[in-house]
Amino acid sequence: MPERIGYRELSVKHPSVIIIGSGISGLTAAYELQKAEFQVTVLEAGTRVGGAMYSQVEDEWIAEIGPNSILETHEKIKTLIHELEITEEVIYPGNMSSNRFVIKNHKLLPLPMSPISFFTSGLFSLNSKLNLLREPFISKWDNHKEESLADFVRRRLGQNFLDYAVNPFIAGVYAGNPESLSVKYALPKLYGLEQKYSSLIKGQIKKAREPAVHGEIPRNSAKMFSFKNGLKTLPETIANKLQQKVQFDSQIKSIEKKGEEWSVRYKHKGDDQILQSSVIIYAGTAHQLSKLPIKNTNLTFAEDIIHPPVAVLSLGYHRNQVKHHLNGFGMLIPEVEKMNILGALFMSSLFKGRTPQDHVLLTVFLGGTRQPHMALQSEEQRLISTEKDLSTLLGINSAPSFIFHRQWEKAIPQYGIGFGEIKSTFHRLEKANPGLYFTGNYREGISVSDTILHALKTAEIIKSNYKSKLI
Ligand SMILES: Cc1cc2nc3c(=O)[nH]c(=O)nc-3n(C[C@H](O)[C@H](O)[C@H](O)COP(=O)(O)OP(=O)(O)OC[C@H]3O[C@@H](n4cnc5c(N)ncnc54)[C@H](O)[C@@H]3O)c2cc1C
Repeated sequence: MPERIGYRELSVKHPSVIIIGSGISGLTAAYELQKAEFQVTVLEAGTRVGGAMYSQVEDEWIAEIGPNSILETHEKIKTLIHELEITEEVIYPGNMSSNRFVIKNHKLLPLPMSPISFFTSGLFSLNSKLNLLREPFISKWDNHKEESLADFVRRRLGQNFLDYAVNPFIAGVYAGNPESLSVKYALPKLYGLEQKYSSLIKGQIKKAREPAVHGEIPRNSAKMFSFKNGLKTLPETIANKLQQKVQFDSQIKSIEKKGEEWSVRYKHKGDDQILQSSVIIYAGTAHQLSKLPIKNTNLTFAEDIIHPPVAVLSLGYHRNQVKHHLNGFGMLIPEVEKMNILGALFMSSLFKGRTPQDHVLLTVFLGGTRQPHMALQSEEQRLISTEKDLSTLLGINSAPSFIFHRQWEKAIPQYGIGFGEIKSTFHRLEKANPGLYFTGNYREGISVSDTILHALKTAEIIKSNYKSKLI
């Protein structure tokens, strides 16, 4: 009677899972599998949960060191927040957040958000505007070679659109460069429009009329959110629900399949430990993966995933120190403008409660694929480079009263040309090693929402594999 075989009965066989890494991917997978009564252990190399997601709280300042907001791109994200009982903690930005600025000639120009504002915007050349009218008539590229995002945009919309829309957008999302990213994997939805509708414009219009895929919330209507005490609320709440199942300061020494079970040797706070489990999920970073000691398994392919360095500077000022109104989400800087920073978020305009009264908070990003050396400078030098740009752009000419620096030597995985082969390798590895799974921002998208969705999908596959084995 298969219907009667639920997870409670499965637990008699004690299905166990070891999850490596307690970033949002590892925690989400752990939480989902714990709900299905798997015995969960999370091994984390560091001393706290959340990985890239952490909020520094000092006096009345709340500064994010990694992600600043999450997009509600699927009903499953809402469900997770609801189940974790933190809906009351969620905060959404005000209307102002729909204003986004792009720099041209050292001035902040609003990014056009509608066709009419695109045609009247000073950000784009006349040629760029004519290119948009021509775009529906450009035929689809049928070459099966992976194309760079830059070539794709140049082919359909021209160089000026690449320079002033796509280049700054990619610096803001990937800290990357469209010349080296693969359009198919870095922006699959954009790529899909050409594949399915032969045109980005026609595709946008037609897609808006089609019913949404079950549970999916289109990006243009997905709400952005954070939490009253910063994004760290999410990983910390999941960790609490996992009740001591995260073992910090854990260094994996060997992973080996013995019969049906995996055997993991690791050092925990200096002591040798060994665990057996039916399932292992690697939810660590892609840049650490090649060092994972799985017997007879070569993981050096992961070294091909480039992670440029990024520095994050949270800077707090008295409102009177800043000439600009900061009436928007933030500003992005095209590479052709040749400035020091990649862009800045106007955090105190985005979310309330991040600063003492009458103060503002900016989060500035430096480095990325564009200027890795900028992220690797000393803290002092980074501040000098940043202050120069903030003076030009926002009229800030005095020192901040709050400063918090975070340097990521390896920040965000780049879905570069050749990423298709990397994706296939992960599939092959999972197929060749039953019970071994990979989840994280190197699989199906780098955003927090994409990583949560992939972790949920991985947990679903594991649940169904174990259910079908017993049935
Ligand atoms: C500066 C910055 C800004 C960002 N801004 C945004 C944003 O605004 N919105 C958004 O949606 N996304 C943003 N992102 C991307 C997003 O934050 C990440 O892609 C996502 O949080 C990654 O989660 P993860 O669990 O896959 O990996 P991580 O958060 O990197 O977690 C991996 C964890 O695994 C541990 N680990 C690694 N290797 C091992 C090992 N061998 N053994 C044990 N533990 C190990 C690490 O210590 C870490 O705790 C940003 C990222 C950065 C760096």
